[in-house]
Amino acid sequence: MPSVDRMDPRALEVARACKGFLDEEEGMRLHDLARECAPIGPIVEIGSYCGKSSVYVGAGTKAGGGTLLCVDHHRGNEEQQPGELYHDPDLFDPEQGAMDSLRIIRRTLRDAGLEDTALLLVSSSTAAARLVTVPLGMVFIDGGHSFEAAQTDYERWAGKVAHGGILAIHDLFPNPDEGGQAPITIYRQAIASELFDELPTTKTLGVLRRR
Ligand code: MG
Repeated sequence: MPSVDRMDPRALEVARACKGFLDEEEGMRLHDLARECAPIGPIVEIGSYCGKSSVYVGAGTKAGGGTLLCVDHHRGNEEQQPGELYHDPDLFDPEQGAMDSLRIIRRTLRDAGLEDTALLLVSSSTAAARLVTVPLGMVFIDGGHSFEAAQTDYERWAGKVAHGGILAIHDLFPNPDEGGQAPITIYRQAIASELFDELPTTKTLGVLRRR
């Protein structure tokens, strides 16, 4: 287990209890990166779901005196739809006939004391990217895991990372038997672009620094 003393204890408790797919060691790495990058520019997270990673990133952003923008349409990604592997019936709203994780993340951020730091943008990645034109301290890509979705996130957001800022990508699986290959595909593209330096990974979290 990583040392977690450096994270706000209330936020850590909320992050641990929150639904989601993020290992604590990865979460703490994101926390530390966000704290370091917050002075460079705003932090953006693509794919927030119920807010587990938003709390790690948000607590780090708050400690660094910055702002986090949590981008998600809150309708679930392709793997979270009814009948799919990661579907959670608690998040399905029968009245709308759709997934809705927005009400959950609002509570998560409130409980974690992050309502003034982590701002919710209920939007597709593409629409949000049209709005955000300032150089960013960090971009964390953890949205849709289809090749199309990951490629879109990479193309729309990687170029917005400020010099010295961080591009982090979740769910890298070098062995195809262990997981989908879309995230690692865009990670390799980022390296091939020669715009980024590769930093050590934490489990499935890839970390690149913009030159
Ligand atoms: Mg993920």
